Amino acid sequence: MKKHSKKRDAILECVRSTTSHPGADWVYAQLKPEIPDLSLGTVYRNLAAFKQEGVIASVGTVKGIERFDATTEPHAHFICDSCSAVIDVEGIDPPEKLCEQVGCGCAKSCVLIFNGVCSQCVQNL
Ligand SMILES: [Zn+2]
Ligand SMILES: [Zn+2]
Repeated sequence: MKKHSKKRDAILECVRSTTSHPGADWVYAQLKPEIPDLSLGTVYRNLAAFKQEGVIASVGTVKGIERFDATTEPHAHFICDSCSAVIDVEGIDPPEKLCEQVGCGCAKSCVLIFNGVCSQCVQNL
């Protein structure tokens, strides 16, 4: 059993407190005022560990920044090409059944990501 650290808990809490699918930089910026000795490296390390443990999910890299999701159940995402917002898409499930049809091996998951311009950015066009 790994020892529980306050920083570790705070980082996980921070990811769970938002639906914005934050990256490490965002988490760091949120927690730094509360935890002055927090380093960006610690945030990266903990996020990577959470991902490994399956506590959080990675949405993938958006403009070079890996984005994380507290919701680990498979769900679809919309990624805005303009402001890099990652938004949960309601009502559309990733086509898990397709995995059974993949002929080249045993597919475990299928990721569904829509790209485009979010409604916020559309208004500002
Ligand atoms: Zn946008
Ligand atoms: Zn999500």
